[in-house]
Amino acid sequence: MSIRVQSLSKFYGEKEVLSDFSMEIQDGEIYGILGPNGSGKTTLLKIMAGIAQFDRGSVTVNGIDAKIDQIGVRKIVGYVPETPYLYESLTPYEYFSFIGSIREIPKDVAERRASDLTRAFGMGEYNDQFIGSLSFGTRQKVSIIASLIHAPKILILDESINGLDPQSAKIFRDLLRSLAEDGMTVVFSTHILEIAENVCDEIAIMKAGKIVAEGRTADLLKERNLEDVFIDLTSTEDVSSVVSALRGTLR
Ligand code: ADP
Repeated sequence: MSIRVQSLSKFYGEKEVLSDFSMEIQDGEIYGILGPNGSGKTTLLKIMAGIAQFDRGSVTVNGIDAKIDQIGVRKIVGYVPETPYLYESLTPYEYFSFIGSIREIPKDVAERRASDLTRAFGMGEYNDQFIGSLSFGTRQKVSIIASLIHAPKILILDESINGLDPQSAKIFRDLLRSLAEDGMTVVFSTHILEIAENVCDEIAIMKAGKIVAEGRTADLLKERNLEDVFIDLTSTEDVSSVVSALRGTLR
């Protein structure tokens, strides 16, 4: 078992943002977390990555207790935040060497991984430009590559695919699939239902801090497409009435 979440609750002040739920993610699985803005995806992913604490329940990541050993969790997880914090005045190449050294990866190994990954993502030409001058999508690639330099057992990505162009999104999809085939567990949140449909072995749909649907992608999609399932489970209003109200307003 890669990640086990049991009766997890998390509060920000008085507000319960994750509410007493459990989930299990198996080794080598690609697991997608979907849900409207504010449903708790980022908070959940940060807890799984060992960078946020929680109030009740337990979370274990490859058997490591995320409550008591956050550093242990961080060692085996690669985490890509929604908005990457990158050093603008370094080049990608310098940044990858820096990440390699703080992760204590031998220099030649870090260099080989960085060069293989930059080649795969077609971003070798940017290796000598300052990160601050790169486009949003290219910075996303830098952040994804940096998260893989220590060859993590688990890769956690928060909306990281959203800024990629179609070509890079395809490379990324294929990369996730091959990493999972090699035994890496991948957990990611996305708004792009088509990617979730095509890539994930298993999907959880969240709403207001709870899981409202969870299961094998193929089972969730047996009768309806993911968009209908998603809207049905997460919307607070009937979409057609929202659209007709908008029409009235815009006429
Ligand atoms: P999602 O990723 O699904 O958009 P988040 O996990 O970012 O959801 O947020 C879940 C809820 O927690 C939201 O209501 C958000 O406003 C709240 N929240 C997130 N981070 C904080 C914080 N640092 N302090 C207070 N409330 C927060």
